[in-house]
Amino acid sequence: MKNTDFARSKNYDVIVIGGGPAGSTTAALVAEMGHRVLLLERHKLPCFKIGESLMPATYWTFKRLGVLEKLKASHFPKKYSVQFYSDAGKASAPFYFFENDSHESSVTWQVLRSEFDQMLLENAREKGAEVQRGVSVHEVLFQGNRAVGVRAKRSDGNLEELAAKVIVDSTGQSTLISRNLKIKTTEPKLKKASIFTHFEGGIRDAGIDEGATLILHTENKDSWFWYIPLPYDRVSVGVVGSIDGLLQNRRSRDAQLDHQAIFGEELEKCVPLKRRIENAKQLFPVKVTKDFSYRASCIAGEGWVLVGDSFGFLDPVYSSGLFLALKSGEMAADAINEAFEKGDFSGKQLGCFGPEFVKGMEALRKLVYAFYTKDFSFGRFLKRFPDCQQGIVDILSGNVYRKDVSGIFGPMGQMCPLPEELTL
Ligand SMILES: Cc1cc2nc3c(=O)[nH]c(=O)nc-3n(C[C@H](O)[C@H](O)[C@H](O)COP(=O)(O)OP(=O)(O)OC[C@H]3O[C@@H](n4cnc5c(N)ncnc54)[C@H](O)[C@@H]3O)c2cc1C
Repeated sequence: MKNTDFARSKNYDVIVIGGGPAGSTTAALVAEMGHRVLLLERHKLPCFKIGESLMPATYWTFKRLGVLEKLKASHFPKKYSVQFYSDAGKASAPFYFFENDSHESSVTWQVLRSEFDQMLLENAREKGAEVQRGVSVHEVLFQGNRAVGVRAKRSDGNLEELAAKVIVDSTGQSTLISRNLKIKTTEPKLKKASIFTHFEGGIRDAGIDEGATLILHTENKDSWFWYIPLPYDRVSVGVVGSIDGLLQNRRSRDAQLDHQAIFGEELEKCVPLKRRIENAKQLFPVKVTKDFSYRASCIAGEGWVLVGDSFGFLDPVYSSGLFLALKSGEMAADAINEAFEKGDFSGKQLGCFGPEFVKGMEALRKLVYAFYTKDFSFGRFLKRFPDCQQGIVDILSGNVYRKDVSGIFGPMGQMCPLPEELTL
């Protein structure tokens, strides 16, 4: 692009690419400070997305965004707890978040993503962001090392170049910037795949357990299922296992085996879950995703910053994805607002929240590794180290930025190998 053309293109303070929870959060909190924010979302209409269970600590970002009352008035089931089932089908006692903290933030929600994402996008618009749907960003434009704009395609096929002082990549697993800059690193020990769908009419527990997330191991602990109650009598059900075990080895044994059949085979190995959905109606063919655990080696550069999944994703097991998307959106917005105050759009300024953000993410990552260690059990761990109960519930609640949870990892390290801590 010639400099003259670019000078004629439209100018914004901030362009946010992607209207998921991370992008909408950043856009709302920057726009409400009076900056000119353009948010571009490729989908014309709200659509299905996986990732429906919230962590309690999302409360604090919702509060800042001003959407708590909307969530309280919504039809999203309330989530008071998470409960684990062993490979032998034995249920743990539910981990009730309010036992740890009686504040109302201990109750959260199970959300239908099309409605939830739309609510956050509308909130960004209400706070002053210009939101355009049906616009797909093809490229982030750089002058030297500095991001200066985007090249975007509208639904009518027209290409447009738009300039901004800050480009926020919130493209989720598309990881637009980190793929192009080749700064994306995968987690070799977390090479997982997932097969999932929705059912109508699954069996729910009674009372406050009605909206609980269930995490159920299959026999031999080779894979696990989630069971997440949603509105409209729906339940989200998905299985997660290693890419080899769940997909590749199976396919090389029987090329005809489709994903639906694999889902059925896994269900046979998870009796408590099978019982819950045997009379329920599957609402659409299973969907598949894989290789979803990765991280970028840096979070920001000159004129650009990564938020949510575009920076990294751990694993679905503790439902931390939305929490980290919202939290990084909030932290990045603060860094961007400060950048405008100082007139400093360097990577150092835009990424100043990175070390603190990654520290919280690392606490969750260690717990993910513990979950996948076959001979480790949280029940046995807490029997030996009962004082660690509080720390575990804190991490499961997402209280990794409000409290120091590091105390549990010394004892835990005595019972299972924990990963080296990553920093930025
Ligand atoms: C199997 C599985 C199960 C999960 N379960 C949970 C769960 O229970 N709870 C939980 O908290 N998390 C869960 N997650 C994770 C969660 O879904 C994500 O962490 C979360 O959606 C991240 O939000 P985001 O805003 O970063 O990205 P996204 O929600 O993916 O949003 C990105 C947006 O960017 C748009 N976009 C992409 N590219 C472009 C482009 N070039 N131009 C314009 N727009 C673009 C997309 O259309 C999308 O709307 C799960 C993930 C997986 C893989």
